[in-house]
Amino acid sequence: MNTMWLMVLNGLVNLSDKTYTCRKFQLNQLPCRHALVACNLRRISCYNYYSPYYYKEILATAYAGFIYPVDPMEDWDVLDDVQSVVVLPQKGRKPNGRPPKNRRSSQCE
Ligand SMILES: [Zn+2]
Repeated sequence: MNTMWLMVLNGLVNLSDKTYTCRKFQLNQLPCRHALVACNLRRISCYNYYSPYYYKEILATAYAGFIYPVDPMEDWDVLDDVQSVVVLPQKGRKPNGRPPKNRRSSQCE
């Protein structure tokens, strides 16, 4: 594959290596917004640069073995010590009114 360097928004995109200086392209293995611009400039589909890990079939395979159904609660074996524990809601009072939208500035500001 030939090297495809493109200057996009003060950085270099290499579509063949799937890299950009923001590093999101490498880390997420998804085209970042810079890579999307580069794909648009080259008039190529950005879907060629998605990692196969994001394909529906691969995702389904990845989680196929790890999801186990849980028995109904009536069938659970719970120890007497655990059953006798009463979990109460946290103490504290919710302040009246809507929470403030703006942060209060400190005296130093
Ligand atoms: Zn980027």
